[in-house]
Amino acid sequence: MLSPDQIIYLDNNATTQLDPAVLEEMLPFLTSSYGNPSSGYRFGSQVRTALDRARERVATLLGCEPTEIVFTSCGTEANNTAFNSALQFDLAGKHIVTTAVEHSATYRYCEQLAKRGCAVTTVGVDSEGNLDLDALEGAIRPETVLVSAMWANNETGVLFPVEKIAEIARRKRVLFHTDAVQAAGKLPIRLRDSVINFCSVSGHKLHAPKGVGALYVSRRSAFRPTLIGGDQENGRRAGTENVASIVGLGKAAERAAEAMASEQNLVRALRDRFETAILTAVPETFVNGDREARLPNTSSLAFAGIESAAALVLLDQQGVCCSAGSACHTGSLQPSHVLRAMKLSEDRLRGSLRFSFGRFNAEAEVEKAITILRQTIGKLRRLCASPAGTSYVQPQT
Ligand code: PLP
Repeated sequence: MLSPDQIIYLDNNATTQLDPAVLEEMLPFLTSSYGNPSSGYRFGSQVRTALDRARERVATLLGCEPTEIVFTSCGTEANNTAFNSALQFDLAGKHIVTTAVEHSATYRYCEQLAKRGCAVTTVGVDSEGNLDLDALEGAIRPETVLVSAMWANNETGVLFPVEKIAEIARRKRVLFHTDAVQAAGKLPIRLRDSVINFCSVSGHKLHAPKGVGALYVSRRSAFRPTLIGGDQENGRRAGTENVASIVGLGKAAERAAEAMASEQNLVRALRDRFETAILTAVPETFVNGDREARLPNTSSLAFAGIESAAALVLLDQQGVCCSAGSACHTGSLQPSHVLRAMKLSEDRLRGSLRFSFGRFNAEAEVEKAITILRQTIGKLRRLCASPAGTSYVQPQT
């Protein structure tokens, strides 16, 4: 196994390192405080108190009330649950509007719903990854029950104006869900000032453990649970709670909320340093997606004349972790559906890599990654035959 000091981890949109402060708060709930939060005695109720605290902390991060938070097993479950609730488990004659660049936790579920008789309209994006709000509004029909659009794209970092989309949905009397898995902890969110009905988050994208998430359900919205059984989560999600992970999510939310502005400035500076250095040193390199309306930590770069799969292998050999498109597509030769929806050229689709920065990245490792990446792209371009009509100036290595 590679030790952490052998790797340069630039894949924070895939997952993040568990924050030691988060682990510390979790440990008692994996060891001594193992009571069931639903039990009536104090050994259980002290665990219930810890869950309540976590709920308050997540609510503070999202700018909503603690009662509006339902803990889930992951971001995927949060997304699926929002869809199920809006559809009330009855698909006949119903219609959903979503976008062409959603995570598989949304688009694969929509594919399933479509197979089972629900009409789904997928609104496209432009070459910068931006949505046409008029097209989205025009897609809403009398039988539409839900509009779902992500807050921040996991591959390009491009931000959708979700508050505006929520207003459109409200005007049309349709529920609105946003997948904020990549936005939560990276951008200020105040759900109480919005008309968003459902909002999904995931712990492992903000330095909490994998396997825990949350769904915001606005108190104005009717809700139908997906998991039926016990009365946990106020009857909105049955199943004994994953206490330690929920406590971890709470701590991670608190840390993200406390240090949001300063931390994101530091992360942005690392991303910008990396991106500028690569764009300067490596010719025929392009940024995928809108460079302004973008997460501060994400850089999706297209390198003309290379295969991203080959680049990933060479970078991995040198300890650099990044991805081609989303993590779910790693190892697959299929170009990312997000970049494809942006109608990038085949060359850009084939040669795109995503770098995503985070709290635990240091300047020195970013500098090292810049050198390694320059050399890797140079090497690949020397190895690969240039596509017809394209000529490259080899980067200095
Ligand atoms: N939505 C987005 C935008 C994501 O990036 C991810 C994870 O990559 C998910 C949903 C799924 O979250 P989880 O891994 O917690 O199921």
